[in-house]
Amino acid sequence: MIEITSANIEKAINKARQTKPLVKVLEFRRYQVTNKTTGATYEVKFTKINNTKYAECNCKATVICYHIGASIGAHIVLAEQMHTATA
Ligand SMILES: [Zn+2]
Repeated sequence: MIEITSANIEKAINKARQTKPLVKVLEFRRYQVTNKTTGATYEVKFTKINNTKYAECNCKATVICYHIGASIGAHIVLAEQMHTATA
């Protein structure tokens, strides 16, 4: 698991904007990201521990990769909906 910071996630989102991978929601906090060029598929998971956000991806990267960057947009929308639903 890698801690998400505003700096590392911003880089990942920028890279995702260039690569434009396909993001599919598997369940809340679990996403499948497909590179449309290579067809490679990876799974991204988000975890929140004591208000610190973490993410992990099963690709080779050991940093916040663009798969995580691509998923977080969908994740933020879903998390907000969940929050609204439970409020
Ligand atoms: Zn990745």
